[in-house]
Amino acid sequence: NHLPEHIRAKVHNHPCYSEEAHHHYARMHVAVAPACNIQCHYCNRKYDCSNESRPGVVSELLTPDQAVKKVMTVAANIPQMTVLGIAGPGDPLANPERTFDTFRQLTEKAPDIKLCVSTNGLALPELVDELCKHNIDHVTMTINCVDPDIGAQIYPWIFWKNRRVYGRKGAEILIKQQQKGLQMLVDRGILVKVNSVMIPGVNDKHLEEVSKAVKAKGAFLHNVMPLIAEAEHGTFYGVMGQRGPTHDELQELQDACSGDMNMMRHCRQCRADAVGMLGEDRGDEFTMDKIEAVD
Ligand code: SF4
Ligand code: SF4
Repeated sequence: NHLPEHIRAKVHNHPCYSEEAHHHYARMHVAVAPACNIQCHYCNRKYDCSNESRPGVVSELLTPDQAVKKVMTVAANIPQMTVLGIAGPGDPLANPERTFDTFRQLTEKAPDIKLCVSTNGLALPELVDELCKHNIDHVTMTINCVDPDIGAQIYPWIFWKNRRVYGRKGAEILIKQQQKGLQMLVDRGILVKVNSVMIPGVNDKHLEEVSKAVKAKGAFLHNVMPLIAEAEHGTFYGVMGQRGPTHDELQELQDACSGDMNMMRHCRQCRADAVGMLGEDRGDEFTMDKIEAVD
């Protein structure tokens, strides 16, 4: 773990950010955010958002009240639970009422639990001040490119000021908002991890540049995740054949980026309703019907 000391102190009990901590502390995600404000070519809305989570699984969508109840139940049963994340199934900041209602209630009822959120960044600049009101010290942002020509190949459209903006123009707005949001968070002392989805033939050669750019802005960790391309996840570009990277390709890129940037290598792309230690998923023990059956 090569994180600088002041960051390490902040993340020592966060299972996602410290390789030692992920054996001792547990995290959970609650899926309270169904909508999204952009379209990624690799996303098929039936499944979790790959901002953070493994695409291709369907998580149990909860209301904020149900989510709070679930967190309290899990915290009572898994004492190592230190972190609660909202990561989907859509984009948490495209569902600000639901996301912030959950955070508001948890800040009050469980002030010791650290909160985190992941986002594609489009709505971030306008919500940074609201985010800062809660017990949030980490944000994960998915940044797949800093070049709108590459962005146009990843994002067919974004939803912006009540209309769809297509292609390069949409990608340009998204990239600007992401960079602005990143800067605003860093300025406020919030740790930012950047996720990138590695898409062979589209942004694989570009991600080293992304890594440099986000490091320069102050992101503390970069997590390159493989595109998970399986027929049932839908199509990429309308083309069935888009493949994910091989293990060696992914490792090569992570090695290339690690010269400039702290790379995260133990992210498990957990599902949007994962519960437990990293690498374990006890979500099935804590479904809403089971929790409500105890009452
Ligand atoms: Fe899907 Fe997430 Fe992309 Fe939205 S940001 S389109 S939910 S992968
Ligand atoms: Fe941690 Fe990655 Fe899982 Fe998020 S998806 S909880 S960062 S391991």
